[in-house]
Amino acid sequence: MTIAQTLKARQAEAVAAGVATKGIFARHAENAELWDVDGRRFIDFAAGIAVNNTGHRHPRIMAAIAEQADLFTHTCFHVAPYESYIRLAERLNALVDTGEDNRTMLVTTGAEAVENAIKIARASTGRSGVIAFSGAFHGRTMLGMALTGKVSPYKKNFGPFPAEIYHVPFPAAFSGVTVETTLAALDTLLASDVDPERVAAFIIEPVQGEGGFNPAPDELLRELRLRADKYGIVLIADEVQGGMARTGAMLSIEHSGVKPDLVTLAKGLAGGFPLSAVVGKASIMNAAHPGGLGGTYAGHPFAVAAANAVLDVIADEDLCGRAAWIGEKIENRLRTIAARQGMERIGDVRARGAMIAVELVEDREGKTAAAGLTSQVVAEAEQRGLILLSCGTRYNVIRLLPPLTTPEDVLNEGLDILEASLEAAFSKVAPAGA
Ligand code: PMP
Repeated sequence: MTIAQTLKARQAEAVAAGVATKGIFARHAENAELWDVDGRRFIDFAAGIAVNNTGHRHPRIMAAIAEQADLFTHTCFHVAPYESYIRLAERLNALVDTGEDNRTMLVTTGAEAVENAIKIARASTGRSGVIAFSGAFHGRTMLGMALTGKVSPYKKNFGPFPAEIYHVPFPAAFSGVTVETTLAALDTLLASDVDPERVAAFIIEPVQGEGGFNPAPDELLRELRLRADKYGIVLIADEVQGGMARTGAMLSIEHSGVKPDLVTLAKGLAGGFPLSAVVGKASIMNAAHPGGLGGTYAGHPFAVAAANAVLDVIADEDLCGRAAWIGEKIENRLRTIAARQGMERIGDVRARGAMIAVELVEDREGKTAAAGLTSQVVAEAEQRGLILLSCGTRYNVIRLLPPLTTPEDVLNEGLDILEASLEAAFSKVAPAGA
């Protein structure tokens, strides 16, 4: 019996069944590679779900943590505040272009950032309604689940959820949902269900993550901005997955040229430490009264030290440029693979920087989702030493999220394994169209 098998058995006896996991038990990790408890090496194309954009254990992040550990580990920012939090807030304020003076608040998880963005939008507008999108993912708290636009596995059995949350379809070119469809649904909603004067916020992922790595068309973001301005609605960009250089820009909304009112950041913000932020217009952020925001561990000193180091690394190693380069390299390789005979189950390849998706279908005509095949590719990759994640409202998208610091030879090795895994999985099913 391997150590991993033993741990799997112990996990089943000790850990709640709802906490689903892969079968890879981590021992140690370095940049884009991870070794398991049995000494097996994996190339990591998941990066802790877009967290380790700066790789595992980046030396500058580790040094920043060690330095902080010598000073203090926790005071609670509300009790004895520290300069590093203020410095991080100054730096994030300068990074996010809302067109106005910004303020920042720090919390711990992506869901918590989303919760706080909604609290702030409600306080600032005096309204309660929130409009989100089908296929969206905004977290596993009650409000996070309410905003999330996918029932299984996130919302199933866990309701009731907070009221006054509405969803409209998210446009996805591949599935044939157009911007016109989305805007028609939004305007119908505002005419028939909720008075726009009662809507506090629109919340949107500029590249929908868990929903399938679908970039929101620029036109949709522009139209949301127009309606937000017209009705006094706060436009929130959820950058938890797409932010922090992942898409080739610091924020994924920058590609559209649309300025948000508030943004949520987490994951890549602190290179593996739990930290999230709401950054946005001072006029909105300051609407929440003193004492209304925060938390015991919010802006933990280790995570803040890591985040300040992450910002240095992103700038000094040009990780935005590197994300664009990685994205282009992987997309080209995937397109070449998709063009080969026998690869007809690759229905779509799309990339925004290093947020890359391969959508698998039963056939290219009907575009029926190939969910089982997607799990099979992920399993084949795991056997060959490559960590992959799937996503998508139809469970048929493989998402590639390599660290932005992945060396070229490791990236190539990972892509070779991916190609072999696609071949192996496809060879086990009947030929497309058969
Ligand atoms: N928003 C988005 C866009 C996300 O991708 C996620 C996590 N996948 C969250 C919010 C929730 O973040 P967390 O898991 O840190 O609560």
